[in-house]
Amino acid sequence: MRLLLVEDDRMIGDSLRQALRLEGHAVDWVYDLAAARASVDTEHFDLILLDLGLPPAPGAVVQPTAGLMLLQVLRARGDATPVVVLTARDALGERVSGLDAGADDYLVKPFELDELLARMRAVVRRHAGRAAPALEHGGLRLDPATREVTLEGRPVLLSAREFAVLEALMQRPGAVLSRAQLEDRLYGWGGAVESNAVSVYVHQLRKKLGPGVIQSMRGVGYFLAR
Ligand code: CA
Repeated sequence: MRLLLVEDDRMIGDSLRQALRLEGHAVDWVYDLAAARASVDTEHFDLILLDLGLPPAPGAVVQPTAGLMLLQVLRARGDATPVVVLTARDALGERVSGLDAGADDYLVKPFELDELLARMRAVVRRHAGRAAPALEHGGLRLDPATREVTLEGRPVLLSAREFAVLEALMQRPGAVLSRAQLEDRLYGWGGAVESNAVSVYVHQLRKKLGPGVIQSMRGVGYFLAR
C-alpha cells in the first residue's frame, strides 16, 4: 500500500516508517499539517496514519488535536481515504473527536506494530467494501493479512516487493497500472527508484506465476489477464 504518515515525533516516525517499509509498504512521512495538506492535495494514498498532536506550522506550538484539521479538510471535500488516528494515552476526548471527524479507526500510543498492521488491513478492507480478506482473480488468491499467495491452490513464495506489485494489480482487476503507479506503490517519493525496478519485479512474478498472468500494454503499463 502507499501510505502517508503524519507524525511530528522524529523517533516514532522514523521507527514506524522503517517497520512499515519492511512490510512492503511505500511510506511518505511528513511532520506537520502544512506538509500533510500539500501531500494529500497532490498525491493519492491508500491510507493515512495521522498523529493528532501536530504543530500547525513548522516551529509553532503543538496543539493536542491539530491533526483533526487534515481530517476535516479531507472529509469536507468528499475524500474518503481511510484514516487511522494515532493519539496519546489518556486522551479520550481526542479519540472521540477523531472518530467524529471521520477517522476510520484509532490507536493509542504506544502500540504494537502487529496491531497497527491488522487495523490498517481491516480499515482498507472495509473501505474497499470487501467482507472477505483475500483478493481473488482467476486461479490467483492473495491474502493481505497472512501475505500468502496461491495459484490454483498451490502456494507461491514472493518477496515483499513482488507481493506489493501483485497486490496493486489484484486490487484493481481489469485496470491498467502504469509503471509510475506501480513505482509509487513500491517506494513513495522518499526512496530511490531504480529505473527498471518494476520490469524486474514483473519479470520475477511471471517466472513464478507463469508468463500469461500479468500482461503488458506497450507504453501504458501492466494488467492482470482475465
Ligand atoms: Ca505528536
